[in-house]
Amino acid sequence: MKYLSTRGSKELKTSAQAIIKGIAEDKGLFVPESIPKMPEKLAEIINGDKKLNSFGNNSFQNQRVLDSIKYKDVALEVLKVFFTDFTEEELSYCVNGAYDEKFEKEEIVPVVKAGHGYFLELYHGKTAAFKDMALSILPYLLTTAMKKEKEDKKICILTATSGDTGKAALAGFADVPGTEIIVYYPEQGVSQVQERQMVTQEGSNTHVFAIDGNFDDAQTAVKKIFSDPKMNKDLEEIGFKFSSANSINIGRLVPQVAYYVFGYIKLLEQGAIKPGEKINVTVPTGNFGNILAAYYAKEMGLPVDKLICASNENKILTDFINTGTYDRRRDFHLTNSPSMDILISSNLERLLYHLASEKANCDWGKNCNHSDAGKEISALMKSLDEEGKYTVSEKIKQGMKDFIGGYVDVNKTNETIGKMYSEHNYLLDTHTAVGYKVYENYGKETGDTKPTLIASTASPYKFAESVALSIGLSEEANGFDYVRAIHNKTGIAIPKGLQDLENKKILHTGKATPKTMPETVINSLK
Ligand SMILES: *Cc1c(COP(=O)(O)O)cnc(C)c1O
Repeated sequence: MKYLSTRGSKELKTSAQAIIKGIAEDKGLFVPESIPKMPEKLAEIINGDKKLNSFGNNSFQNQRVLDSIKYKDVALEVLKVFFTDFTEEELSYCVNGAYDEKFEKEEIVPVVKAGHGYFLELYHGKTAAFKDMALSILPYLLTTAMKKEKEDKKICILTATSGDTGKAALAGFADVPGTEIIVYYPEQGVSQVQERQMVTQEGSNTHVFAIDGNFDDAQTAVKKIFSDPKMNKDLEEIGFKFSSANSINIGRLVPQVAYYVFGYIKLLEQGAIKPGEKINVTVPTGNFGNILAAYYAKEMGLPVDKLICASNENKILTDFINTGTYDRRRDFHLTNSPSMDILISSNLERLLYHLASEKANCDWGKNCNHSDAGKEISALMKSLDEEGKYTVSEKIKQGMKDFIGGYVDVNKTNETIGKMYSEHNYLLDTHTAVGYKVYENYGKETGDTKPTLIASTASPYKFAESVALSIGLSEEANGFDYVRAIHNKTGIAIPKGLQDLENKKILHTGKATPKTMPETVINSLK
């Protein structure tokens, strides 16, 4: 399996090379030349395998087979078909290092039924957000890739964060030999808990800066630094190379495919669905990485019908899905689901590329170089840069017919948290509440009652103030008091990483603007 750029340059990379590079030279994102088929072992389970059925109607046996499937097994099978240049031993090493006791739940990703939904709880890792699912394994993949490619330079990981990626990347890369990690977060755009998580990060290779600007400003500046020849040269002189821990890195995207497959198997195990039965997936969306992973799972053969893309008031994706026009010329809103306060959703480029090239007059990779699709995507991205918008072709629009877009505002988000808690005794964070409400609206409008997995992307404790006020608690002085208040009321365990946060030493106080970011890179590495 080779990787190519969404913007059509002819160079093919191995997955190890693509993971090290992070972003392609022509500024495109790396995509697999084809989306692989579901590995047989998993397909057999998903679709009801003959061998399972040959246990007769003994559902007890089926149950045992299902029960015995661990998250690590699913992750390994999925990684094997995408990262074919890694050996099985290498991938096992990565998977075993990542999905261990760092996670506070033994099953790694529990699936919990509440209200009309099945919540895929992705937030039980070290930093209490779904970003841990990929960022606990990325350092293993990257360092293994460096060994494979005999990379002699050190890697400087530049990361723009809307709040959760930053901490998860810092935690993943802290003191990893051969790497330095620099994180930029929007000073006004993250919760108090999120900010404190980042500025207290230990590790001699960690660097954190508050940016005067929003996430889009930080992400745009980071992408610019990546592709700036002078920056790359300066870095090379001091023995470094850039890579990315954002979801533009394919090494972050692919591990996310695994949990949709795992979630489906959990639904089977719980008896919520029959083998092969179609489900829907709902994802609270920002940079479009998480929902793209669900799309990859669907394309591999996971029985998924609709992909419900939920947004907050920054509803650029809702508008895009409904009209085919992506228009970023609009006001940016700061909401209480800050990880979705994004107007330039990077990973959408990958979906557009897949759809543009899908039914091109050639087979993936073999008989043509996909330069037509690459040209088409380059033109769209240029238009986004220069005019602030683009409109996709009818073919791409048709290709998106299983995507449903919807959004809810802050009031509805808070109301949803309150209602879910009072009616079902289940506590949602603000992002997950956006997802749930959009899903509920979709269900009401269409009458579609298929079982639906809802990506539950953060612990409610990360957005303690909104969550506390939504379940009727009174105002407190700061974010940490809200954490205690929620705990007193609900009894839900506070994630370990958040327990002692208030008393941790603040280690990072750096500030930057999009303009001064290049200097901060060089200074951090000196
Ligand atoms: C990052 C994040 C999202 C958005 O995920 P994307 O992959 O960027 O679409 C949603 N919720 C939370 C809590 C997040 O941290």
